[in-house]
Amino acid sequence: MVMPTVLTDRIAPLDFPEYANNHVFMKKSLNNAFFNRHDHHGHHDGQAVGQSPKQVIGEALRQRVENIDHESCDPGEEDTFYIADLGEVYRQHLRWKRNLPRVKPFYAVKCNADQTLLNMLSALGTGFDCASKTEIEQVLRMGVEPSRIIYAQPCKTNSYLRFVASKGVRQMTFDNPDELRKIARFYPDAELYLRILTDDSSSLCRLSLKFGASLDSTDGLLALARELGLNVVGVSFHVGSGASDPQAFHKAVRDAHWVFQQAATHGFHLKTLDVGGGFCSDSFEEMAGVLRNALDDYFPAHSGINLIAEPGRFYASSAFTLACNVIARRTIEDASGRDASYMVYINDGLYGNFSCIMFDHQNPEAKVLRAGGRMLYNTPAAEAAAGGSGIEYSIWGPTCDGIDRITESIRFHTELDVGDWLYFENMGAYTKCSATTFNGFSNEHDVVYICSEPGARALLGWL
Ligand SMILES: *Cc1c(COP(=O)(O)O)cnc(C)c1O
Repeated sequence: MVMPTVLTDRIAPLDFPEYANNHVFMKKSLNNAFFNRHDHHGHHDGQAVGQSPKQVIGEALRQRVENIDHESCDPGEEDTFYIADLGEVYRQHLRWKRNLPRVKPFYAVKCNADQTLLNMLSALGTGFDCASKTEIEQVLRMGVEPSRIIYAQPCKTNSYLRFVASKGVRQMTFDNPDELRKIARFYPDAELYLRILTDDSSSLCRLSLKFGASLDSTDGLLALARELGLNVVGVSFHVGSGASDPQAFHKAVRDAHWVFQQAATHGFHLKTLDVGGGFCSDSFEEMAGVLRNALDDYFPAHSGINLIAEPGRFYASSAFTLACNVIARRTIEDASGRDASYMVYINDGLYGNFSCIMFDHQNPEAKVLRAGGRMLYNTPAAEAAAGGSGIEYSIWGPTCDGIDRITESIRFHTELDVGDWLYFENMGAYTKCSATTFNGFSNEHDVVYICSEPGARALLGWL
């Protein structure tokens, strides 16, 4: 093991045999390892009293990187690692509750299936949106009731349908007649959500190219469901992952209401609306405001309709900070021989946790964590230099492929060299879940778990 002193864990899901009744019990050996060993303020109760979240994260980063000497360490000791702040997950949950108090979140597991993150969400009482047997098993293994899971994949595998039938995971989505016939064969008692098409043209990752029933097909689908004796209980939609147009929510809610009325003509009294995911942290209040108004107009509280959602990135993104080591540097002299720029190569890239650049259209922003032996986390010197000042860098991943470039051009006032560290915030969504082992680089990285929200520590059993 690389670091004997920090609370670390591997990406691979862990078993928590002590887990019961939706409470999380961390393995004793993990308890407080981080705060008790590293609390330089002397709070031996393990609480980060009086520290801001950034201070807690900065301290965890410092402890880790200052213990690594790239001149003498074993292979892999300088590997990329994450700091996961479960306090941030807790704060995002409060933000959700404040803005969408009527909507129960079912976290979209595909976004980041980190076990401790799921434990936190389970303790907060969220449901889970799963799309495969593995995701469903992972959530069931935590002791979560099958009713807190929605199998939100409109095109399911036959054998997985038989699997969920055996486990009693009843809620699932559909959007086409073939799927209805499949469900009629393998799980006729399922509780079905008709997923409708939305206008997702303003979203980062369009989903309606692949999924969703158009409004001129819903009548036929409802008629077929009735004929097959199936149980349609609601409507779902997804405005696209990384949505940017709040009106997409308004229109989708209006369309869903129309389908609720249409379903009634087929004898289905739908009871739940699922407003999907797509919420980004930056625009959340604005999006949620539009959604809340639309829900109040079309599905007011007195209608008795249950409201659920499937947020993924909203909960995961900001909780994870990634630290990467500079493993190589190439100096580029300009023609005048004066303004050298550098190509820096770090130990994570597009085939690793930066797969989000390819798959999720993200633009991770490099900051300087440690350079020339100085910790710069969360200081002005960590930030990119403005307006053509400073030294120019391009940032590359460790593989041999030319597309493995993280940043084409960025400037820092600091000179970066081999052994220095960079960090990237907001790296919790669609990052490690789609990382590969291309070229023999690991996709399993240590995660240092912290909780900057003292009140939330008990939820994790970190008392
Ligand atoms: C990916 C996905 C989500 C989560 O989307 P986010 O943009 O991360 O909120 C929710 N529901 C379904 C069906 C999805 O495919």
